[in-house]
Amino acid sequence: RYQLFRRFDSGILLDTESWFSVTPEAVAAHVAARCYHSLTSSHAKSRPLTVLDAFCGSGGNTIQFGQVFDHVLAVDIDFVKLQCAQFNSTLYGTSHKTSFIMQDFFQLHKMLDVVERGIDLVFMSPPWGGVDYFHRRETDLSELPLDTFRLFLYCVQELRCRNLVFFLPRNSNLEQVAYMAGVGGRVEIEQNFLGHKFVAISAYFGELVEKDERKFAEKI
Ligand code: SAH
Repeated sequence: RYQLFRRFDSGILLDTESWFSVTPEAVAAHVAARCYHSLTSSHAKSRPLTVLDAFCGSGGNTIQFGQVFDHVLAVDIDFVKLQCAQFNSTLYGTSHKTSFIMQDFFQLHKMLDVVERGIDLVFMSPPWGGVDYFHRRETDLSELPLDTFRLFLYCVQELRCRNLVFFLPRNSNLEQVAYMAGVGGRVEIEQNFLGHKFVAISAYFGELVEKDERKFAEKI
C-alpha cells in the first residue's frame, strides 16, 4: 500500500477496484514530472499549464499532476472514485489546484468552459478490463473497454489537444500504439518499472516526444 501512496497512513480512501487500478505513486510522479519538463523545456513557461486527467480513478495520477502543474481537471464517470480522488488530493495538499468533474469522458466537449480554457495535455489511463490482460500474450488495444483509437481521435478533434499520454498494459500491441501517431508522426513509448516489476507502458505523443535524438538514444 505504500507503493500506491507513500502517505497511505494519513487516511487514503480507495474503493475495491482502485486497489487494482491506481497508478503507483513513484510511476505517477515520474510521468507528471516528465510531462511538465517536456512542455516547458522547449519554450519559456509564459502561462499556467492545465492537464486533463481523463480517467482519474482514486487520484493516483491526479495528485502527482497537482504537484507540478498549475491546474488539473480530474474526470471520472464514477462518483465514489471521484470522491476518493478529492479526499486523497486533500491529504496531499493539491485539491485547491484541481477541479473534480463527474462526467463520461466522451461528453466533455459539451462542457465548453473545459474546452475553451485550453487543455495543454490529456493523460489517459483508461480501464484495462480487469486483471485478465495479465495472462494474455498481447493486449489488442481495440479490445479494451474503451477503444484507444477512438480516445485519441476524440482528444484531437473535440478537445483540440495533441499532447497526449496513454498509460496502458505492459503487453500492449506496440504496432497499434505506433499506428496512432499516423504516417510520419512520432510516439515515444516508455516502460514503467517499480523496482524490478514491469508495471505498464506510457506512450507520449505530440510535444511530449523527446526532441533531442541523442538524449533519446542515451535513455535507451
Ligand atoms: N489513474 C487512476 C486509475 C484509472 S482506472 C488512478 O491512478 O487512480 C480507470 C478509471 O476510468 C476508473 O476509475 C473508471 O471509473 C473510469 N472510467 C471508465 N469509463 C469512463 C468514462 N467513459 N469516462 C470517464 N471515466 C471512465
